[in-house]
Amino acid sequence: MDVIVIGGGIAGIATAWQLRAAGHRVCVIERHATVAQGATYGHSGIALPTPLDVWFGPTFLRNGRQSSGGVISRTGWRGQAHGFVKRLATLHGSEAFAERYALLRPLIESAQAALADIDARFQLDYEQRDGLLYLVRGSDEWSLTQPALELLRRFETPHHALSPAECVAFDHVIPADPPFAGGVHFETGRVANCPLFVKLLKQVLDAQGGVQFETSREVSAIRLEDRRAAVELAPPAHEAGRSRDVEVISGDAVVVAAGAQTPRLLAPLGIKMPFYPLRMHTLNSPVAHEECVPQTTIVDAGKRIAVARMNHRLRISGAAVLLRAQEVDDALPEALTEDALALLGEASRDWAPGAARISAALAWEGMKLLSADGLPAVGSVGHPRLFVNAGHGPAGWALSLGSARLVAQQISNMAPDLPADTIKALWPGRD
Ligand SMILES: Cc1cc2nc3c(=O)[nH]c(=O)nc-3n(C[C@H](O)[C@H](O)[C@H](O)COP(=O)(O)OP(=O)(O)OC[C@H]3O[C@@H](n4cnc5c(N)ncnc54)[C@H](O)[C@@H]3O)c2cc1C
Repeated sequence: MDVIVIGGGIAGIATAWQLRAAGHRVCVIERHATVAQGATYGHSGIALPTPLDVWFGPTFLRNGRQSSGGVISRTGWRGQAHGFVKRLATLHGSEAFAERYALLRPLIESAQAALADIDARFQLDYEQRDGLLYLVRGSDEWSLTQPALELLRRFETPHHALSPAECVAFDHVIPADPPFAGGVHFETGRVANCPLFVKLLKQVLDAQGGVQFETSREVSAIRLEDRRAAVELAPPAHEAGRSRDVEVISGDAVVVAAGAQTPRLLAPLGIKMPFYPLRMHTLNSPVAHEECVPQTTIVDAGKRIAVARMNHRLRISGAAVLLRAQEVDDALPEALTEDALALLGEASRDWAPGAARISAALAWEGMKLLSADGLPAVGSVGHPRLFVNAGHGPAGWALSLGSARLVAQQISNMAPDLPADTIKALWPGRD
Protein backbone atom coordinates (compact mmCIF):
# COMPACT_ATOMS: atom_id res chain seq x y z
CA MET A 1 0.00 0.00 0.00
CA ASP A 2 0.97 3.67 -0.31
CA VAL A 3 0.83 5.31 3.09
CA ILE A 4 1.15 9.01 3.90
CA VAL A 5 2.65 9.86 7.29
CA ILE A 6 2.16 13.41 8.56
CA GLY A 7 5.05 14.47 10.80
CA GLY A 8 8.78 13.87 10.88
CA GLY A 9 9.29 13.55 14.63
CA ILE A 10 10.14 10.30 16.39
CA ALA A 11 6.52 9.09 16.00
CA GLY A 12 6.45 9.78 12.25
CA ILE A 13 9.87 8.28 11.51
CA ALA A 14 9.12 5.24 13.67
CA THR A 15 5.85 4.83 11.75
CA ALA A 16 7.67 5.07 8.41
CA TRP A 17 10.19 2.52 9.64
CA GLN A 18 7.56 -0.01 10.73
CA LEU A 19 5.43 0.52 7.62
CA ARG A 20 8.44 0.00 5.35
CA ALA A 21 9.39 -3.11 7.31
CA ALA A 22 5.86 -4.39 6.63
CA GLY A 23 6.39 -3.83 2.89
CA HIS A 24 4.51 -0.57 2.29
CA ARG A 25 5.62 2.48 0.34
CA VAL A 26 5.63 5.57 2.50
CA CYS A 27 5.59 9.33 2.03
CA VAL A 28 6.53 11.37 5.14
CA ILE A 29 5.41 14.98 5.05
CA GLU A 30 7.17 17.37 7.43
CA ARG A 31 6.61 21.11 7.58
CA HIS A 32 10.13 21.86 8.79
CA ALA A 33 13.19 21.70 6.54
CA THR A 34 14.33 18.53 8.24
CA VAL A 35 13.12 15.88 10.68
CA ALA A 36 13.17 15.92 14.53
CA GLN A 37 12.45 19.63 14.93
CA GLY A 38 9.35 19.42 17.16
CA ALA A 39 9.07 17.92 20.65
CA THR A 40 11.56 15.29 19.53
CA TYR A 41 14.29 17.92 19.45
CA GLY A 42 13.96 18.79 23.13
CA HIS A 43 13.77 15.33 24.66
CA SER A 44 15.63 14.50 27.89
CA GLY A 45 17.03 11.36 26.35
CA ILE A 46 15.31 8.80 28.55
CA ALA A 47 14.53 5.80 26.43
CA LEU A 48 12.28 3.87 28.78
CA PRO A 49 9.27 5.05 30.73
CA THR A 50 9.56 3.48 34.16
CA PRO A 51 6.63 3.67 36.57
CA LEU A 52 8.56 6.63 38.05
CA ASP A 53 8.22 8.83 35.02
CA VAL A 54 4.90 7.96 33.41
CA TRP A 55 2.59 10.95 33.78
CA PHE A 56 -0.05 9.40 35.94
CA GLY A 57 -0.03 7.70 39.31
CA PRO A 58 0.39 8.64 42.97
CA THR A 59 3.06 11.32 42.56
CA PHE A 60 1.70 13.20 39.57
CA LEU A 61 -0.27 16.41 40.19
CA ARG A 62 -1.02 15.38 43.73
CA ASN A 63 -3.58 17.52 45.62
CA GLY A 64 -4.02 19.82 42.62
CA ARG A 65 -1.01 21.88 43.76
CA GLN A 66 -0.09 24.43 41.13
CA SER A 67 3.49 23.33 40.60
CA SER A 68 3.04 19.75 41.63
CA GLY A 69 4.84 17.09 39.60
CA GLY A 70 6.86 19.72 37.76
CA VAL A 71 3.73 21.13 36.09
CA ILE A 72 3.20 24.85 36.41
CA SER A 73 -0.16 26.57 36.11
CA ARG A 74 -0.58 30.31 35.81
CA THR A 75 -4.07 30.59 37.13
CA GLY A 76 -4.75 27.42 39.03
CA TRP A 77 -6.59 24.54 37.45
CA ARG A 78 -9.74 25.98 35.95
CA GLY A 79 -12.05 25.04 33.09
CA GLN A 80 -10.67 22.33 30.79
CA ALA A 81 -7.46 22.02 32.79
CA HIS A 82 -9.45 21.43 35.99
CA GLY A 83 -11.34 18.52 34.37
CA PHE A 84 -8.08 17.11 33.08
CA VAL A 85 -6.36 17.27 36.47
CA LYS A 86 -9.43 15.72 38.12
CA ARG A 87 -9.33 12.77 35.73
CA LEU A 88 -5.65 12.24 36.32
CA ALA A 89 -6.39 12.24 40.05
CA THR A 90 -8.43 9.06 39.61
CA LEU A 91 -5.11 7.34 38.85
CA HIS A 92 -3.48 8.40 42.14
CA GLY A 93 -4.55 5.23 43.92
CA SER A 94 -2.01 2.43 43.76
CA GLU A 95 -4.47 -0.06 42.23
CA ALA A 96 -5.62 2.26 39.44
CA PHE A 97 -1.98 3.19 38.83
CA ALA A 98 -0.91 -0.45 38.59
CA GLU A 99 -3.80 -1.31 36.29
CA ARG A 100 -2.97 1.54 33.89
CA TYR A 101 0.75 0.83 33.90
CA ALA A 102 0.00 -2.82 33.13
CA LEU A 103 -1.93 -1.67 30.03
CA LEU A 104 1.04 0.40 28.90
CA ARG A 105 3.63 -2.25 29.65
CA PRO A 106 3.17 -4.38 26.49
CA LEU A 107 3.67 -1.24 24.40
CA ILE A 108 6.89 -0.44 26.27
CA GLU A 109 8.13 -3.98 25.68
CA SER A 110 7.22 -3.86 21.99
CA ALA A 111 9.09 -0.54 21.57
CA GLN A 112 12.13 -1.86 23.40
CA ALA A 113 12.21 -4.97 21.22
CA ALA A 114 12.03 -2.84 18.07
CA LEU A 115 14.84 -0.58 19.29
CA ALA A 116 16.98 -3.61 20.17
CA ASP A 117 16.36 -4.98 16.67
CA ILE A 118 17.47 -1.70 15.05
CA ASP A 119 20.55 -1.61 17.32
CA ALA A 120 21.48 -5.16 16.35
CA ARG A 121 21.02 -4.58 12.62
CA PHE A 122 22.63 -1.20 12.10
CA GLN A 123 24.93 -0.44 15.06
CA LEU A 124 23.85 3.21 14.94
CA ASP A 125 25.71 5.56 17.25
CA TYR A 126 23.17 7.93 18.74
CA GLU A 127 25.14 8.65 21.89
CA GLN A 128 23.63 5.78 23.87
CA ARG A 129 24.70 5.37 27.47
CA ASP A 130 23.37 3.44 30.39
CA GLY A 131 22.52 4.73 33.83
CA LEU A 132 19.71 6.74 35.35
CA LEU A 133 19.30 7.89 38.93
CA TYR A 134 15.93 9.16 40.19
CA LEU A 135 16.21 11.23 43.36
CA VAL A 136 13.36 11.87 45.79
CA ARG A 137 13.45 14.84 48.14
CA GLY A 138 10.74 14.47 50.82
CA SER A 139 9.69 11.48 52.91
CA ASP A 140 6.04 11.96 51.89
CA GLU A 141 7.13 11.82 48.24
CA TRP A 142 9.17 8.71 49.01
CA SER A 143 6.04 7.00 50.45
CA LEU A 144 4.13 7.93 47.30
CA THR A 145 6.93 6.41 45.24
CA GLN A 146 6.45 2.98 46.81
CA PRO A 147 3.69 1.80 44.40
CA ALA A 148 6.09 2.56 41.54
CA LEU A 149 8.80 0.47 43.24
CA GLU A 150 6.26 -2.32 43.65
CA LEU A 151 5.60 -2.20 39.88
CA LEU A 152 9.34 -2.31 39.15
CA ARG A 153 9.53 -5.50 41.21
CA ARG A 154 6.39 -6.94 39.64
CA PHE A 155 7.67 -6.41 36.10
CA GLU A 156 11.19 -7.44 37.09
CA THR A 157 12.71 -4.18 35.89
CA PRO A 158 16.33 -4.20 37.06
CA HIS A 159 16.78 -1.38 39.60
CA HIS A 160 18.23 -0.58 43.02
CA ALA A 161 16.41 1.46 45.67
CA LEU A 162 19.12 3.50 47.41
CA SER A 163 19.32 5.31 50.72
CA PRO A 164 20.53 8.94 50.62
CA ALA A 165 23.98 7.81 51.80
CA GLU A 166 24.13 5.21 49.02
CA CYS A 167 23.14 7.85 46.44
CA VAL A 168 25.91 10.15 47.63
CA ALA A 169 28.40 7.27 47.68
CA PHE A 170 27.32 6.35 44.15
CA ASP A 171 27.90 9.86 42.85
CA HIS A 172 29.81 12.25 45.06
CA VAL A 173 28.44 15.34 43.28
CA ILE A 174 25.01 14.81 44.89
CA PRO A 175 24.85 16.98 48.01
CA ALA A 176 23.90 15.14 51.22
CA ASP A 177 22.63 18.42 52.61
CA PRO A 178 19.81 19.46 52.51
CA PRO A 179 18.62 15.97 53.39
CA PHE A 180 16.63 13.92 50.91
CA ALA A 181 14.65 10.70 51.17
CA GLY A 182 16.35 8.35 48.71
CA GLY A 183 16.87 7.33 45.12
CA VAL A 184 16.26 4.63 42.56
CA HIS A 185 19.09 3.62 40.28
CA PHE A 186 18.61 1.96 36.89
CA GLU A 187 22.01 0.66 35.94
CA THR A 188 20.82 -0.35 32.48
CA GLY A 189 18.43 2.59 32.01
CA ARG A 190 19.16 3.83 28.51
CA VAL A 191 19.78 7.50 27.81
CA ALA A 192 20.43 8.60 24.23
CA ASN A 193 20.12 11.38 21.71
CA CYS A 194 16.62 11.04 20.26
CA PRO A 195 16.89 13.60 17.40
CA LEU A 196 20.17 12.01 16.33
CA PHE A 197 18.48 8.59 16.34
CA VAL A 198 15.66 9.98 14.18
CA LYS A 199 18.13 11.44 11.68
CA LEU A 200 20.15 8.22 11.52
CA LEU A 201 17.00 6.16 11.01
CA LYS A 202 15.98 8.51 8.22
CA GLN A 203 19.40 7.92 6.65
CA VAL A 204 18.81 4.16 6.80
CA LEU A 205 15.38 4.64 5.19
CA ASP A 206 16.85 6.90 2.50
CA ALA A 207 19.46 4.25 1.69
CA GLN A 208 16.95 1.39 1.65
CA GLY A 209 14.45 3.23 -0.56
CA GLY A 210 10.68 3.00 -0.44
CA VAL A 211 10.25 6.04 1.82
CA GLN A 212 9.95 9.47 0.29
CA PHE A 213 10.42 12.58 2.44
CA GLU A 214 8.55 15.76 1.58
CA THR A 215 10.14 18.33 3.87
CA SER A 216 9.25 22.01 4.15
CA ARG A 217 5.69 21.02 3.23
CA GLU A 218 2.72 21.50 5.51
CA VAL A 219 -0.46 19.46 5.39
CA SER A 220 -3.42 21.81 5.50
CA ALA A 221 -6.20 19.22 5.37
CA ILE A 222 -6.91 15.50 5.20
CA ARG A 223 -9.38 14.10 2.64
CA LEU A 224 -10.97 10.71 3.11
CA GLU A 225 -12.80 8.77 0.45
CA ASP A 226 -14.07 5.20 0.26
CA ARG A 227 -11.00 3.80 -1.45
CA ARG A 228 -8.39 6.52 -1.07
CA ALA A 229 -7.03 8.91 1.49
CA ALA A 230 -5.31 12.15 0.59
CA VAL A 231 -3.71 15.22 2.09
CA GLU A 232 -3.82 18.79 0.87
CA LEU A 233 -0.56 20.69 1.05
CA ALA A 234 -0.26 24.36 1.82
CA PRO A 235 1.75 26.16 -0.88
CA PRO A 236 5.49 26.24 -0.16
CA ALA A 237 6.51 29.42 1.67
CA HIS A 238 8.12 30.96 -1.44
CA GLU A 239 4.89 30.50 -3.43
CA ALA A 240 2.44 31.60 -0.76
CA GLY A 241 -0.25 33.88 -2.20
CA ARG A 242 0.83 33.26 -5.83
CA SER A 243 -0.96 30.04 -6.70
CA ARG A 244 -4.55 29.11 -6.01
CA ASP A 245 -4.06 25.44 -6.98
CA VAL A 246 -4.26 23.01 -4.10
CA GLU A 247 -1.55 20.36 -4.23
CA VAL A 248 -2.81 16.95 -3.19
CA ILE A 249 -0.93 13.74 -2.38
CA SER A 250 -3.04 10.63 -2.24
CA GLY A 251 -2.49 7.13 -0.96
CA ASP A 252 -4.25 4.16 0.57
CA ALA A 253 -4.02 5.39 4.17
CA VAL A 254 -2.93 8.41 6.20
CA VAL A 255 -1.19 8.25 9.57
CA VAL A 256 -1.29 11.45 11.62
CA ALA A 257 1.88 11.64 13.69
CA ALA A 258 1.95 15.41 13.89
CA GLY A 259 2.71 15.74 17.60
CA ALA A 260 0.85 18.60 19.28
CA GLN A 261 -0.78 19.57 15.95
CA THR A 262 -2.55 16.22 15.70
CA PRO A 263 -5.89 17.30 17.29
CA ARG A 264 -6.00 20.35 14.99
CA LEU A 265 -5.63 18.16 11.86
CA LEU A 266 -8.30 15.74 13.06
CA ALA A 267 -10.87 18.28 14.28
CA PRO A 268 -12.28 19.15 10.79
CA LEU A 269 -12.99 15.42 10.35
CA GLY A 270 -15.15 15.52 13.47
CA ILE A 271 -12.58 13.67 15.57
CA LYS A 272 -11.96 15.10 19.01
CA MET A 273 -8.99 14.02 21.05
CA PRO A 274 -9.22 14.71 24.77
CA PHE A 275 -5.53 15.55 24.89
CA TYR A 276 -3.93 18.60 26.45
CA PRO A 277 -0.84 20.46 25.31
CA LEU A 278 2.02 20.83 27.74
CA ARG A 279 4.74 23.30 26.97
CA MET A 280 8.05 21.86 28.11
CA HIS A 281 11.31 23.66 28.66
CA THR A 282 14.94 22.82 28.21
CA LEU A 283 18.16 24.57 29.19
CA ASN A 284 21.22 23.57 27.22
CA SER A 285 24.04 24.70 29.39
CA PRO A 286 27.81 24.73 29.11
CA VAL A 287 29.57 22.80 31.84
CA ALA A 288 30.72 25.14 34.60
CA HIS A 289 32.97 22.77 36.59
CA GLU A 290 33.74 19.40 35.07
CA GLU A 291 34.29 17.78 38.48
CA CYS A 292 30.72 18.68 39.49
CA VAL A 293 29.02 16.93 36.57
CA PRO A 294 27.08 13.79 37.58
CA GLN A 295 28.37 10.54 36.06
CA THR A 296 24.86 9.46 35.30
CA THR A 297 21.63 11.15 34.22
CA ILE A 298 19.81 12.47 37.28
CA VAL A 299 16.06 12.92 37.46
CA ASP A 300 14.34 14.92 40.18
CA ALA A 301 11.50 12.44 40.54
CA GLY A 302 9.08 14.91 42.19
CA LYS A 303 9.61 17.76 39.75
CA ARG A 304 10.22 15.42 36.80
CA ILE A 305 13.26 17.35 35.70
CA ALA A 306 16.17 15.50 34.10
CA VAL A 307 19.78 16.66 34.19
CA ALA A 308 21.66 14.81 31.46
CA ARG A 309 25.06 15.18 29.95
CA MET A 310 24.91 15.42 26.17
CA ASN A 311 28.38 15.68 24.69
CA HIS A 312 30.04 18.78 26.16
CA ARG A 313 26.84 20.29 27.51
CA LEU A 314 24.25 19.63 30.16
CA ARG A 315 20.64 19.35 29.15
CA ILE A 316 18.17 20.21 31.90
CA SER A 317 14.62 19.53 30.84
CA GLY A 318 11.11 19.43 32.21
CA ALA A 319 9.15 22.35 33.74
CA ALA A 320 5.85 21.72 31.97
CA VAL A 321 3.16 24.35 31.63
CA LEU A 322 -0.33 22.94 31.14
CA LEU A 323 -2.26 24.84 28.45
CA ARG A 324 -5.73 24.81 26.99
CA ALA A 325 -6.13 23.01 23.66
CA GLN A 326 -6.56 26.28 21.74
CA GLU A 327 -3.33 27.72 23.17
CA VAL A 328 -1.01 25.32 21.30
CA ASP A 329 0.45 28.02 19.05
CA ASP A 330 0.34 30.95 21.50
CA ALA A 331 3.50 32.29 23.08
CA LEU A 332 3.68 31.92 26.84
CA PRO A 333 3.62 35.09 28.92
CA GLU A 334 7.22 35.99 29.72
CA ALA A 335 6.72 35.61 33.46
CA LEU A 336 5.57 32.02 33.05
CA THR A 337 8.57 31.17 30.87
CA GLU A 338 10.80 32.69 33.53
CA ASP A 339 9.13 30.55 36.23
CA ALA A 340 9.68 27.43 34.13
CA LEU A 341 13.34 28.19 33.45
CA ALA A 342 13.86 29.06 37.12
CA LEU A 343 12.49 25.63 38.07
CA LEU A 344 15.04 24.00 35.76
CA GLY A 345 17.90 26.07 37.18
CA GLU A 346 16.79 25.19 40.71
CA ALA A 347 16.76 21.45 39.99
CA SER A 348 20.24 21.63 38.52
CA ARG A 349 21.57 23.55 41.54
CA ASP A 350 19.78 21.17 43.94
CA TRP A 351 21.26 17.95 42.60
CA ALA A 352 24.39 18.92 40.72
CA PRO A 353 25.60 22.23 42.14
CA GLY A 354 28.39 23.79 40.14
CA ALA A 355 27.85 21.53 37.13
CA ALA A 356 25.95 23.87 34.79
CA ARG A 357 26.68 27.46 33.81
CA ILE A 358 23.02 28.41 33.85
CA SER A 359 23.68 32.07 33.04
CA ALA A 360 25.07 30.99 29.65
CA ALA A 361 22.43 28.33 28.95
CA LEU A 362 20.31 28.38 25.81
CA ALA A 363 16.61 27.97 26.47
CA TRP A 364 14.29 25.95 24.23
CA GLU A 365 10.62 25.17 24.53
CA GLY A 366 8.51 22.56 22.85
CA MET A 367 5.05 21.15 23.01
CA LYS A 368 3.89 17.68 23.83
CA LEU A 369 0.44 16.20 24.16
CA LEU A 370 -0.80 14.49 27.27
CA SER A 371 -3.99 12.51 27.76
CA ALA A 372 -6.09 12.52 30.90
CA ASP A 373 -5.59 8.77 31.21
CA GLY A 374 -1.83 8.88 30.63
CA LEU A 375 -1.84 6.73 27.49
CA PRO A 376 -1.04 7.74 23.90
CA ALA A 377 -3.49 7.71 20.98
CA VAL A 378 -2.67 4.87 18.62
CA GLY A 379 -4.72 3.16 15.93
CA SER A 380 -7.47 3.74 13.44
CA VAL A 381 -10.13 6.32 14.18
CA GLY A 382 -13.17 7.74 12.40
CA HIS A 383 -12.44 6.11 9.03
CA PRO A 384 -10.80 2.82 8.00
CA ARG A 385 -8.05 4.72 6.13
CA LEU A 386 -7.18 7.12 8.92
CA PHE A 387 -4.68 6.28 11.68
CA VAL A 388 -3.10 8.16 14.55
CA ASN A 389 0.22 7.76 16.33
CA ALA A 390 0.49 10.65 18.79
CA GLY A 391 0.07 11.87 22.34
CA HIS A 392 2.93 9.95 23.93
CA GLY A 393 3.31 12.61 26.62
CA PRO A 394 6.74 12.35 28.20
CA ALA A 395 7.60 9.08 26.56
CA GLY A 396 7.50 9.50 22.78
CA TRP A 397 11.11 8.43 22.44
CA ALA A 398 10.40 5.34 24.46
CA LEU A 399 7.07 4.28 22.99
CA SER A 400 7.01 5.33 19.35
CA LEU A 401 8.58 2.26 17.79
CA GLY A 402 6.00 0.08 19.56
CA SER A 403 3.00 2.24 18.72
CA ALA A 404 4.25 2.48 15.12
CA ARG A 405 4.38 -1.31 14.96
CA LEU A 406 0.74 -1.50 16.03
CA VAL A 407 -0.29 1.02 13.35
CA ALA A 408 1.70 -0.88 10.69
CA GLN A 409 0.06 -4.16 11.70
CA GLN A 410 -3.39 -2.60 11.54
CA ILE A 411 -2.73 -1.08 8.11
CA SER A 412 -1.40 -4.44 6.91
CA ASN A 413 -4.48 -6.24 8.26
CA MET A 414 -2.18 -8.37 10.37
CA ALA A 415 -3.16 -9.63 13.83
CA PRO A 416 -1.55 -7.17 16.27
CA ASP A 417 0.83 -8.64 18.81
CA LEU A 418 -0.33 -6.37 21.64
CA PRO A 419 -3.07 -7.62 23.98
CA ALA A 420 -6.63 -6.59 23.09
CA ASP A 421 -7.12 -4.57 26.30
CA THR A 422 -4.02 -2.49 25.56
CA ILE A 423 -5.17 -1.84 21.99
CA LYS A 424 -8.58 -0.78 23.27
CA ALA A 425 -7.04 1.52 25.87
CA LEU A 426 -4.91 3.20 23.18
CA TRP A 427 -7.79 3.82 20.78
CA PRO A 428 -7.61 7.49 19.72
CA GLY A 429 -11.40 7.94 19.80
CA ARG A 430 -11.78 7.21 23.52
CA ASP A 431 -13.28 9.88 25.82
C1 LIG B 1 11.57 18.95 27.08
C2 LIG B 1 11.10 17.57 26.71
C3 LIG B 1 11.69 16.45 27.28
C4 LIG B 1 11.28 15.16 26.92
N1 LIG B 1 11.94 14.07 27.40
C5 LIG B 1 11.61 12.83 26.97
C6 LIG B 1 12.36 11.69 27.38
O1 LIG B 1 13.34 11.80 28.10
N2 LIG B 1 11.97 10.47 26.93
C7 LIG B 1 10.90 10.31 26.10
O2 LIG B 1 10.57 9.17 25.74
N3 LIG B 1 10.20 11.37 25.68
C8 LIG B 1 10.53 12.62 26.11
N4 LIG B 1 9.82 13.70 25.70
C9 LIG B 1 8.64 13.47 24.91
C10 LIG B 1 9.01 13.21 23.50
O3 LIG B 1 9.99 14.14 23.08
C11 LIG B 1 7.77 13.33 22.67
O4 LIG B 1 6.79 12.42 23.17
C12 LIG B 1 8.06 12.96 21.23
O5 LIG B 1 9.17 13.68 20.75
C13 LIG B 1 6.86 13.26 20.39
O6 LIG B 1 7.22 12.94 19.09
P1 LIG B 1 6.22 13.24 17.93
O7 LIG B 1 6.85 12.75 16.70
O8 LIG B 1 4.87 12.75 18.30
O9 LIG B 1 6.08 14.84 17.93
P2 LIG B 1 7.07 15.93 17.35
O10 LIG B 1 8.48 15.64 17.62
O11 LIG B 1 6.54 17.24 17.81
O12 LIG B 1 6.89 15.76 15.79
C14 LIG B 1 5.70 16.15 15.12
C15 LIG B 1 6.15 16.66 13.77
O13 LIG B 1 5.00 16.90 12.98
C16 LIG B 1 5.24 18.05 12.21
N5 LIG B 1 3.95 18.61 11.81
C17 LIG B 1 2.96 19.06 12.62
N6 LIG B 1 1.91 19.48 11.89
C18 LIG B 1 2.24 19.26 10.59
C19 LIG B 1 1.56 19.50 9.36
N7 LIG B 1 0.32 20.03 9.33
N8 LIG B 1 2.19 19.18 8.21
C20 LIG B 1 3.46 18.64 8.22
N9 LIG B 1 4.14 18.41 9.36
C21 LIG B 1 3.53 18.71 10.52
C22 LIG B 1 5.99 18.97 13.14
O14 LIG B 1 6.72 19.95 12.45
C23 LIG B 1 6.89 17.98 13.88
O15 LIG B 1 8.15 17.84 13.29
C24 LIG B 1 10.22 15.00 26.03
C25 LIG B 1 9.60 16.12 25.46
C26 LIG B 1 10.05 17.39 25.76
C27 LIG B 1 9.40 18.57 25.08
